[in-house]
Amino acid sequence: MTSQITTIAPRIAELGEGMTVARSLPTRQQRMVGPWCFLDHAGPVRFAPGHAMHVGAHPHIGLQTFTWMLEGEVLHRDSLGNAQIIRPGQVNLMTAGYGISHTEDSLQDGADLHLAQLWIALPPGQQHCEPGFDHYPELPGWQQDGLNCTLLAGSYAGQQAPTRIFSPLVGLHLAGDKDLHTSLELNPAFEYGILPLTGSVSIADIGLNDQFAYLAAGENTLQLSMTAGSQALLIGGEPFQQELFMWWNFVGFSRQEIAEAQRDWENRSERFGQVGDGNAVRIPAPPLPWRLPE
Ligand code: MN
Repeated sequence: MTSQITTIAPRIAELGEGMTVARSLPTRQQRMVGPWCFLDHAGPVRFAPGHAMHVGAHPHIGLQTFTWMLEGEVLHRDSLGNAQIIRPGQVNLMTAGYGISHTEDSLQDGADLHLAQLWIALPPGQQHCEPGFDHYPELPGWQQDGLNCTLLAGSYAGQQAPTRIFSPLVGLHLAGDKDLHTSLELNPAFEYGILPLTGSVSIADIGLNDQFAYLAAGENTLQLSMTAGSQALLIGGEPFQQELFMWWNFVGFSRQEIAEAQRDWENRSERFGQVGDGNAVRIPAPPLPWRLPE
């Protein structure tokens, strides 16, 4: 079992305002876990008075953005006209498909913020689907051996999450009520990743500290230990078969697709619409890292 586990140190980025973001996917060691292709852990942070998180308008294609809120309140607005506050215990799921743009803003300054944002690559045939947005205020939960489980996506232990997904995958939030040891059932067809969010988490007797752990497919169970008050995120899915290109906020199956999206955003194409009255701060796309034939 242990030989199937790789621990990976997330890349830490300081986003200013005192906020730290730890990126566990993609890394050089591991690009994806199933269709999960991006994992940022933001905070926990308490912003100073007058400071908060503000992410200006930016586009996405080919993926779903999946936001899991632990502390704080953030307003999502998008080019489909949605305006949705997300609070702790809730999921926002934005399906970018062919193209969407959005903003994310803390509701209050000087407040606490703690969240995970993940991206799910859409499978071939769905990558250019109609864009959409869904808010999930309640998710199924249960307890085992002092572990509070919340099912964020997919199915697990006879439960089914309501979240709209396009590939076989799972997302579980794990919170320890007490010092605990338990055994988690795994689907041997899935590969998995586990990220400690707070406290102290061990799997198969490996202390993770703040490291992300990758588990190759083929396992049936995972031994988990946590101290009281610890939290972790477990993601899994069938290994993604298609070669995926990721650049900036775009995911696709060719560089051409990504180059077109970059050009469309820079040309303010209707493809990405506008957020609200269009006066939101707009984040420009950086230049492409490669040349394309004319
Ligand atoms: Mn985004």
